[in-house]
Amino acid sequence: MNNCIFCKIIKDEIPSAKVYEDELCFAFKDINPQAPVHVLVVPKKHAASVLELCEDDKELLGHIQLVIGKLANDLGVAETGFRVMTNCGKDACQSVAHLHYHLLGGVQMSEKMV
Ligand code: 5GP
Ligand code: ZN
Repeated sequence: MNNCIFCKIIKDEIPSAKVYEDELCFAFKDINPQAPVHVLVVPKKHAASVLELCEDDKELLGHIQLVIGKLANDLGVAETGFRVMTNCGKDACQSVAHLHYHLLGGVQMSEKMV
């Protein structure tokens, strides 16, 4: 956890292009964007993935959903559409073990998921 890159970004120990922050979550531009809008929304509390969440996290998760909706509006993709996804584990190619939601938009995406 101490070595977690996203925990370091949240604490500003590693620079990032921050787009939003509140007491519960943090959002920043993906360093390797896959779409014109590609933001990562992360809880400040460290959890490796959805598998580490518990009942107590329900409010946090609802909050993150609302923040994602707000960011979609702020970033100008609410009208055109956007995709929200979180990768978990090997088959999904999760590369950073701190729960994060990709917010992708600004381009027509394909239906394919794999
Ligand atoms: P995953 O593959 O785990 O779902 O997504 C991890 C994402 O984090 C990738 O899209 C990758 O580009 C992004 N990423 C990895 N390291 C950094 C970093 O240091 N800064 C930023 N802004 N994004 C990062
Ligand atoms: Zn972390």
